Order: sequence, then structure tokens, then C-alpha cells
Amino acid sequence: MSADPRRQVPRTDTLLADPRLRAVGERLGRGLVKGAVQRVQQQIRDGELASPQAVDAVLASLPGTASSLRPVLNATGVLVHTNLGRSPLSPAAVAAITAAAGTTDVELDLATGRRGPRGEAAITALLDAVPAAEAAIVVNNCAAALALVATALGQGRELVIARGELVEIGDGFRIPDLLVSTGARLREVGTTNRVTLADYRGALATDTGAVLKVHPSNFVVRGFTRAVEVAELASALEDVPLVADVGSGLLRPHPLLPDEPDLQSTLAAGADLVLASGDKLLGGPQAGLVLGRADLVQRLRRHPLYRALRVDKTTLAALEATLRGPLPPVQEMLAADVDGLRARARALAGRLAEAGVDAVAVDAEARVGGGGAPEHPLPSAAVSLPSSFAERLRRGSPPVVGYVEDGRTLLNLRSVPPSGDDELGTAVLAVVDG
Ligand SMILES: *Cc1c(COP(=O)(O)O)cnc(C)c1O
Repeated sequence: MSADPRRQVPRTDTLLADPRLRAVGERLGRGLVKGAVQRVQQQIRDGELASPQAVDAVLASLPGTASSLRPVLNATGVLVHTNLGRSPLSPAAVAAITAAAGTTDVELDLATGRRGPRGEAAITALLDAVPAAEAAIVVNNCAAALALVATALGQGRELVIARGELVEIGDGFRIPDLLVSTGARLREVGTTNRVTLADYRGALATDTGAVLKVHPSNFVVRGFTRAVEVAELASALEDVPLVADVGSGLLRPHPLLPDEPDLQSTLAAGADLVLASGDKLLGGPQAGLVLGRADLVQRLRRHPLYRALRVDKTTLAALEATLRGPLPPVQEMLAADVDGLRARARALAGRLAEAGVDAVAVDAEARVGGGGAPEHPLPSAAVSLPSSFAERLRRGSPPVVGYVEDGRTLLNLRSVPPSGDDELGTAVLAVVDG
């Protein structure tokens, strides 16, 4: 044993009894604190730390919450970034999640005391936003919506789909694989670049379960191409359900995204069901939205698989608040005017330059992301820093994710809410000093 008291390792129960560690243990759980205590004891044993610093070191190593997921500043210029949790929720949605997080009346009619329809208010908000829909359900994500539709309408039957719409969403997930995994057979029509109404007509058979149109969200085919629009297809199908996966979750046409289909127009054009994600351009929680004909929605709701795919109370709360509340961040970022972004970039670069950082404001391009509008760069502005900043900022606190272009680190401001500029500046200065 060393005679130096600074090298003597404090006992675990002594440390855990420290009032500051007891308080944080109540918030984060004793297990997390105990793990941190053991790591700090090892550091003292290894001579990396003196024992009087033990409690401070434990506190410094603990996360702010019991979850290890950390808030990140998204300066990528990609508004809906799948690796960064897609759409940031609006304050209204966050408040709704907190309110619903405890016991809540998600399935109880408080007036009668009887069981009520689950998540009715969120469904009503969806139907108010998309009046062309007769009914709606909400599942875990758009992939779940596709799986439910393919199972309920296509199992042991054929789903007709154009070859040019056999899409890989990302991370190796392919929509045709998902569809086939439900026991549906795919009846592919047309070629990669062209499909005609006659192709669809020729594929219809007695065992056709549905015709599926999938929006090729993350790519475009250019040149000698032809697709069949929903309206044309709908008029030719008669009894066969036409299901359109529009992906991005736009409720209505958006002036800045002319090529992006929306739920209301697609239903109005004659689709029987439309499917979309809740956490792309809608700007809400991860969810899969299914809207359209009441009888088909009822079939999906009654299918046993629905029970395995339905969403929880917090998702329903966040979705309703996104639809009823103020504009969510993704939509505000989409609408931000480029002169305002330039002014923010100049102010931030000015603050950093004053502190001696090599920072300048530059024009940049932003993207919708999440597989949306691949052909529509959005004009934006960025703060340009030396390239070495990218990694240091990513490892900083809070972490900032930018990107390197032409040997410079760019912090693109269209994906940062205006209220985040201060924090962004402080994060940059912190890695300069550190
Ligand atoms: C993004 C996307 C999906 C997958 O949506 P998730 O909500 O991530 O499951 C499916 N189809 C289309 C057309 C998409 O753009």
C-alpha cells in the first residue's frame, strides 16, 4: 500500500454515500453511478487521478440523463438527417410527450369511464389536415405501414409494382424485400425507365391484391422515361386498391418542393390509400401514416399484425401536437429565407473571428434529406472553418456535426434553428480553447 493518502483508493460505499453522488443516483439510478465510481477508482489505482478528486471525477463522467443519447447540433445542412434522429420535434410536441408520458387517457373515455378509441385525437388531427381521407391509422414507421398493407392486401396474392419503383430506402433496406417477406408476390411491370398504363392493365389478374406506387424519394431517373401518374392509374383500376407510398409526409403541395408528392393531392387524384413517414417533412415523431378509404383502413386496423405495429401514447401525443401546434422546426428550416441565413452566418463568423478563429461566412447548399427531394438543393449559408475543426467539433460538448468541403469545415445554418447559433458559437470556441 502506498503511504501517500492521495494514492489511497476510497471505498465504494464511502463514495456512494457522498451526498452529491446520492442525489445524482436518485436521478440517474445507482447502477450508472456505481459503474462510474468503479472507473474512477481504477484511475486512482493507475495513478491518473488523486483520491480527493474522486467525487468530482465521478460527477464529470456521468451523463446528463439516464440515456446515453446526446443532443447534437446538426450543422450538416441536411434538414432531415436519419443518422441524427430525423426531424427535431417542436417544443409543442416535446411538451405533449412529457404530458402523456405518465398515465394518460389514451384509451379511456373519461366522460363515460369506458374504453375509448385509441389515439382518436391524433387521428382526427390527421383527417382535419388531409380532408380527402375518410379514415387513418398510425403505425411505427412507413416501412411498418408497407408491411401491414402488403400483408393485409397482398399475402398469398400479387402486388403490382413498376420496376422503376423497386427502391432501396437506405442502409441496405429494399422495399421489394420487405414486401416479399410478408408472403405477397410481386408482379413487376415495365422497365427501369418506362412503364405504361397498358403494362399495369396487362398485369391485373384475379389474384391481384393491390397496385402499389412507391415514390422514388432518393433518386431520379432522367432522359427517356415514362411513369403512370396516380390519376391515370386510378381511373383504370376499378376494384383493385391503389396504394401510394409517398414517403416524405407532406400534407399539402409545398411551393419549394414541386416534385414532392403530398398526401392530400395523391388521395384527391384517386389513390385508395396513401402511406408516409411522420418524421420526414411532416416534422413529427417517427411514425407511419396510413390514410384513405374507410373500408380499407378498417381492414388494416382489424388485421392481427396491426397490434404488433401500433404506436405508443407518446408518439400519438407528439403527432397530434405536430399537426395542431406551431410550425415544426423542419418546416421552419425549409421556409427560412437565404438572406436571413447569410446574416446569421456573418454574425456567427464575426463573433468567432473576433476571438481569433479563422472563420468566414460563405454561401452553401442545404438538402431536405431523409430521401426527400434529391434534386432540390436549398440555398443556404455556412460558417467556414479550418478542416481540422470537423472532428474536434464532433467530439465536443455539445457535439456539432458539420462537413468538410474543399478543405474547409462548413457549419451549414439552414439545419440549425436560429436559437442554436449562440450554442454553436460557444461550442466552436470551446474546441479552440480545449
Ligand atoms: C423513407 C421512405 C420509406 C421508409 O420510411 P420509414 O418511416 O423510415 O420506415 C418508405 N418509402 C418511401 C418512399 C420513403 O421515402
